[in-house]
Amino acid sequence: MTLRVAVLGAAGRMGRTVCDAVRAAPGLELVAEVKDGPAIESVADAGADVAVDFTVAPSAMANARWCAANGVHAVIGTSGLNDEEIAELDALFGSSEPNAVLAANFAIGAVLMMHFAAIAAPHFETGEIVEMHHDTKIDAPSGTAIRTAEMMAAASDAWAADPTEHASVVPGARGGLGAGRIPIHALRVRGAVAHQEVVLGTTGQTLTIRHDTTDRTAFMPGVLLAVREVGTRPGLTIGLEPLLGL
Ligand code: NAD
Repeated sequence: MTLRVAVLGAAGRMGRTVCDAVRAAPGLELVAEVKDGPAIESVADAGADVAVDFTVAPSAMANARWCAANGVHAVIGTSGLNDEEIAELDALFGSSEPNAVLAANFAIGAVLMMHFAAIAAPHFETGEIVEMHHDTKIDAPSGTAIRTAEMMAAASDAWAADPTEHASVVPGARGGLGAGRIPIHALRVRGAVAHQEVVLGTTGQTLTIRHDTTDRTAFMPGVLLAVREVGTRPGLTIGLEPLLGL
């Protein structure tokens, strides 16, 4: 059976790449390319089964409400959604079809980096996250960095207090604090795509886990996996981990 796919944010950097990936994927048909808000009505006309959203946070929420009300499964890659918005997605997609997958990072290597950081977390007392993205990324820190801190904090509650926290000569020099008070440092550098290091330390040793996305095609296997699987996963699935069996 062919899955009919709509791409929301089709004129953007990620949206264009998703359109190319869907066109090239067996068993998928690209039926709508939505380039602005009102055009979402074309998704219903096109009979889409799944809508993939790479827009901006306020648009992604409006699009998700529309998908939930119109019976279209949603695969949401847009970052910058806050806790209340994620709770709203859970309510929108919670009880009956359609379903949704929300992933801060669709690059399988990045999902593994987060997983490895959570495995390592209980064995170290200090951990910091350094993420680097292109200089036109609007939100900071990245959704991946926020989620990495959440996963590390959930895996260990033994993080050492940061002795330098109140001693920054330049405000913000120690980064912002994510879950578990894990410092997150966000670099915005022209020429970068998406990069992250997790640096863990304990007496006499450090462990660095690093992932680099050098091209947006890195996200496509994960996006296509979510497109194929969303219809079989009731409710809201957060992160690609369950789809990868992690
Ligand atoms: P971009 O600015 O290049 O593209 C966003 C596009 O969405 C723009 O063309 C904009 O006009 C359009 N848009 C805004 N509202 C819209 C609406 N209601 N309907 C249709 N189109 C609308 O941004 P980008 O680099 O493509 O990134 C998009 C989002 O994806 C960002 O939040 C980014 O952080 C996120 N992202 C997530 C992943 C992941 O793996 N989850 C990977 C890369 C980027």
